[in-house]
Amino acid sequence: VSLSQDGPGRLDMEGALTTRDRVGIQDFVLLDETTEVAIISNLKKRFSKDLIYTYIGTLIVSVNPYKDLDIYNKKQMDVYMGVNFFELPPHIYALADNAYHTMLTEFNNHFILISGESGAGKTEASKKILQYYAVSCPSTTLMNTVRDKMLMSNPVLEAFGNAKTLKNDNSSRFGKYMDIQFDSQGDAVGGHILNYLLEKSRVVHQNHGERNFHVFYQLVEGGSDDLLTQLGLKRDVQHYYYLTQGECAIVSSINDKNDWKSVKNALQVIEFDETNTNHLFRVVASVLHLGNVHFDPDSKGHALLKNNTELNWVSDLLGVDANNLKEGLTFRKIEAKTEQVLSPFTIDHAIYVRDALAKAIYGQTFTWLVNRINESMENKDSPRKTVIGLLDIYGFEVFYVNSFEQFCINYCNEKLQQLFIQLTLKAEQEEYEAEGIEWEPVQFFNNKIICDLVEEKHRGIISILDEECLRPGDATDLTFLDRLEEKMGNHPHFVTHRLADKMTRKTLERGDFRLLHYAGEVTYCVVGFLDKNNDLLYRNIKNVATQFKNSLQKLTEMLMAKEAWYIRCLKSNESKQPGMSAQKRHQVKYLGLMEHLRVRRAGFAYRRKYEDFLKRYKPLCPATWPHWRGMPADGVEVLAQHLGYLPDEYKMGRTKIFIRHPRTLYATEDAYEK
Ligand code: ATP
Ligand code: MG
Repeated sequence: VSLSQDGPGRLDMEGALTTRDRVGIQDFVLLDETTEVAIISNLKKRFSKDLIYTYIGTLIVSVNPYKDLDIYNKKQMDVYMGVNFFELPPHIYALADNAYHTMLTEFNNHFILISGESGAGKTEASKKILQYYAVSCPSTTLMNTVRDKMLMSNPVLEAFGNAKTLKNDNSSRFGKYMDIQFDSQGDAVGGHILNYLLEKSRVVHQNHGERNFHVFYQLVEGGSDDLLTQLGLKRDVQHYYYLTQGECAIVSSINDKNDWKSVKNALQVIEFDETNTNHLFRVVASVLHLGNVHFDPDSKGHALLKNNTELNWVSDLLGVDANNLKEGLTFRKIEAKTEQVLSPFTIDHAIYVRDALAKAIYGQTFTWLVNRINESMENKDSPRKTVIGLLDIYGFEVFYVNSFEQFCINYCNEKLQQLFIQLTLKAEQEEYEAEGIEWEPVQFFNNKIICDLVEEKHRGIISILDEECLRPGDATDLTFLDRLEEKMGNHPHFVTHRLADKMTRKTLERGDFRLLHYAGEVTYCVVGFLDKNNDLLYRNIKNVATQFKNSLQKLTEMLMAKEAWYIRCLKSNESKQPGMSAQKRHQVKYLGLMEHLRVRRAGFAYRRKYEDFLKRYKPLCPATWPHWRGMPADGVEVLAQHLGYLPDEYKMGRTKIFIRHPRTLYATEDAYEK
């Protein structure tokens, strides 16, 4: 093994002839000083040479290049296949391959957590990993079908769940977890998707410079004349209220017409028959029509339909009675003792109901779509053995005004940070302790206190919000805030209006509260909290705790039982163009890179049970080959001495050997392979 200064590397394509001054180091663990400045400087150095990946141990830090690099192809895949992690320059394929081979040798489940802010490259990373598995795992014709379906689920879900935002022209507006299921031979035999918190509000409202979900524009631009006629649509995106609020229906970087073709093709691959496809397009069209249902006031200011045309289309496309629909949009039905009383809506209320209906239709359709895709990817034949899960989920968000959505997203990130802490830091320490190996304590902040603040039963923010939503009478966003201040006033991570000046010297507006998250402080504006929470609650009114909290709980439980791999994505700039400009400091902080680095440097990179280690490497030493008759630990000690391990390089625990640097192990592996 030749070790360049850059770190270990037999085929060190980037490193062997270059110096660390020019291209930086490829594993932060080898960095001289562990500061944010040093991390950023190393990232910049590498990025300037188009080296977008850097390791922290087995974690990958990735910087979005905003240009196509020639590093994602079959040739590259072949280079990384079955090669030890640190032997080649950092690549997302190395991680994919390592997870895969560990899964095969240890028969366990894995997940790859991809995090980062909007536009940092999470979805691209997850697609590249999926492609890696699709291309490089062994295959049969039957498997190919499953693989094609997994790959093709992407364009469909992106059409319905992604949109152009200010930060990303293809921004995922839902969280996604996808299990890739493998059989014992390592063939990919099935897949399953879970989706989280689709941003339904986008269906009825888009900020300036943003669009609705892609599929609407694709249908209007790309659908055949016949189809549009059947659906009563005009080929003119400007005609639709739900498509034009952001004033950017047409975007140069997006070709809706071509994308429509890809989506139609993908729908075929995932076996959407004509009925289902038809159903899907009718729903999409019905939402567009619904957005064009407008109201005029009558003499008393009550809402009247402007005209019936659009409403009739909605009723036709969805197969619901037009009169019922009309009544539902303009009247509230009140059940009195013996009769029903109709109370007319104001225009504002009618618009609210129309939009709520559009969001509900779209939201249900998205869920239905994911279910159909899951059916199609279901593994019906082979016995399923193990899985690799891909989690592509929104990163920590801080805007000028932060609302309920940011609250949920940041809570989700708090939970994932907690998961990371539990899985990595705690597990590391506990293992060292259990093995009787000395551990220099790593200082880290445990964010459990913030998770509790949000989710604790009866006492957490979510519980208080639910109570306020279900309280009959005069509950409003502001009464919710009052309750929060009453109950949380003394919490170290909650800042009320009253305490803001004292604690942080930053004032809060009336109507705001501030949380001190692990990644920094965020001020939330309570306007809309009750309404939006009701929308989530609505589907499951019997449960007081919100659905989101429960689904996150389920997700974290499921992930806890798996081996974790991490990809942390960073944005190189805010302009969606090649080149690095933006300050990365907040991203380094939000992504918890320092914490990772501290643990990895403190610890031993590799550990194996004595039995396993001995079983594999005993041919390397005459004293252990073919049989070691004593205790496995003694055998390993003999082996280690024979292999010339330096005393500081390894430690003998109660059941395992710990090796400090991966390179030591690679030398051993190489000797083994010879
Ligand atoms: P969001 O949270 O908004 O969904 P994201 O992190 O999923 O954001 P992506 O959609 O993956 O971001 O990436 C945004 C854009 O950046 C892509 O459309 C692509 O143009 C570019 N990009 C991301 N990763 C790469 C890459 N590895 N190589 C080239 N371009 C990339
Ligand atoms: Mg995305």
